[in-house]
Amino acid sequence: FKVPTPINEPVKSYAPNSPEKKELKAMLAKMKSEVVDIPMYIGSERVYTEQKVRISPPHEHQHTLGYFNMGDSLHVEQAVRASLGAKYAWANLSWEHRASIFLKAADLIATKYRAKMNAATMLGQSKNVYQAEIDSACEIIDFLRFNVYFMTEIYSQQVISSSGIWNRIEQRPLEGFVFAITPFNFTAIGGNLPTAPALMGNTVVWKPAFTQIYSAQVFMEVLIEAGLPDGVINLIYTEGPDAGDVIFNHPDFAGLHFTGSTGVFQHLWKTIGNNIHKYKSYPRIVGETGGKDFVIAHKSADAKALATALVRGAFEYQGQKCSAASRAYIPANLWEEVKNYLVEDLKSIKMGSPEDFSNFVNAVIDERAFDKITKYIDEAKKARGVELIAGGNYDKSVGYFIEPTVFRVDDNQFVTMCEEIFGPVLTIYVYQPELFEEVLEMADMTSPYALTGSIFAQDRYAIELASKKLLHSAGNFYINDKPTGAVVGQQPFGGGRASGTNDKAGAMYNLLRWVSTRTIKETF
Ligand code: GLU
Repeated sequence: FKVPTPINEPVKSYAPNSPEKKELKAMLAKMKSEVVDIPMYIGSERVYTEQKVRISPPHEHQHTLGYFNMGDSLHVEQAVRASLGAKYAWANLSWEHRASIFLKAADLIATKYRAKMNAATMLGQSKNVYQAEIDSACEIIDFLRFNVYFMTEIYSQQVISSSGIWNRIEQRPLEGFVFAITPFNFTAIGGNLPTAPALMGNTVVWKPAFTQIYSAQVFMEVLIEAGLPDGVINLIYTEGPDAGDVIFNHPDFAGLHFTGSTGVFQHLWKTIGNNIHKYKSYPRIVGETGGKDFVIAHKSADAKALATALVRGAFEYQGQKCSAASRAYIPANLWEEVKNYLVEDLKSIKMGSPEDFSNFVNAVIDERAFDKITKYIDEAKKARGVELIAGGNYDKSVGYFIEPTVFRVDDNQFVTMCEEIFGPVLTIYVYQPELFEEVLEMADMTSPYALTGSIFAQDRYAIELASKKLLHSAGNFYINDKPTGAVVGQQPFGGGRASGTNDKAGAMYNLLRWVSTRTIKETF
C-alpha cells in the first residue's frame, strides 16, 4: 500500500488586491484587537492557572496580544499521565485513522486557518508575510502530508521470506511517551516535532518556547478540530527545570524530539544519560541545534547571484534560522562587485512591522536576543581589522529592531566568524583566489557546527573539490544557492557535529526514530 506522493503546498503571493492579502489583513486587525487567554492542553482539559504571562509582538512590545497560563511540575506530571493514559488506544488505532487526522489538519490550514496561522506567526514571532507563508502555511502542511506518505513507505517495507518461512517486520510505537521541545523561529517545527512521533503511534508532551506559544495554540486548536483524541499531544508551558525534573526521571520517558540551542541539548542529553538506568528502554534522542552556516565563493562564481543569496540567506527572518548564512568567504577578484550589490540591495530593504507587508526586515524575537546580538555588533564595531560594510544600527524603543549588518574581517577567526549569533549579522572574509583550497579547510575548522553551507562557483572542479573537502561540514550542502529554505520532501533537513543528530526533518529517516521494529519469523 502507498499513498500518492504529495505535492508541496503552493506558496501564495499576497499581491496587492489578492483575496489572500485581504483576508490576512483582516485577520491581523482582528487578532491585534483581541486579548487572548491561552490555556495549556492536558488530556481533555484546557488548563488555566493563576500565573498569567503577557505575550506581545516583538515589533511592538508595549502592545498586549494576550497571556499564557504558566504551569509547574504538577502540570507536567498530569501531562505525562494523560499521554500514558491515551497511549494504548492511540497506538492501536489503525494507521489510516491516525493519518486522516493529520491530513485533515493539513487541509484545515490550507483552506480555513491559513490566515490565522500566518497572522499568529507574523504577530507573535515578527515574521514578514512571505516568511510566514512558507512556514506556518506551506511547511507545516507539507510536514503533515509528506509524513503520512513516509509512514506508509516505512510500514510497507518487508524482508525476504522463503518456502516454509514467513519473515515479517512490524513497526511498533515506542514504549512510553515522547517529549517535544520546540523553538520560536518556525511555527512549522513547532507543528512537526510533536506530530511526527504522534503519527507513528506515540503520545507526546509538547513544550514550546514561550515566544512560540501564540502560534502553537492556533495549531493545537486545528489538531483538535481535525479530530485528535484527548491526551495524544499535551501542550504545556513551564520553565525548563520544572518539565525536566518530571520527564527525565520518568521510567516511561521514551524519546526527545528537540530543536533549540546546542547548550540546552547537551545539557538534556547529559541528564538523560545520568538517568539512563531509570528508563524501561533506551530513549530516542533526536535534536536539531545550532549552526554557523557558511557561504564560500570560488573565483568563478557569479557575483550577482552570490550577493542575492547572501542577502536572502543572512537576513530573511532577521537571520533567526539555524540555517542562516552567517559567514562568507569571498575571493578578492569578486569582492568589489559583491560589496556594491550588497550595499545597494540592503539600502532598498525596509525594516519595520510585518503588519506593513512592504517591510522585509522585522524585529528580533525578544529583548534577550536583541541584547545578545547588539553586543556582538558593538564588539565588532570597536575591534581592529573589522570594517562595517552595511547596517550596524539598532533601536528597541518600540520593537526589537536591528539593521541587517555586514562586517568584513581581516582575521578569519574573529568572534563573529566563529560563534552563532542568531540574528541579522553577516561576517565576510576576503581571500586571495589562489588560496581556495586553504579556505575550504579553514571554513571546515572555524566552527563546531555542521548544519548548512553553500558553494558558489561556475567551475565544476571547484564544486567537486568543495564537496569533498566539506564532506562533514554541512548536513545540507547547497551549490549555487543560499543555505536556507529547505523544502519538505525535496531537501531533507538536518546537520551533524554540534548542529544535531542529523535525523532529517521532512524525510523518512526522522519517522524511523519514532518506531521500534519487531521482527517476526513464522515457520510453517
Ligand atoms: N529548515 C529551515 C531552513 O532550511 C531552518 C530551520 C531552523 O532554523 O531550524 O531554512
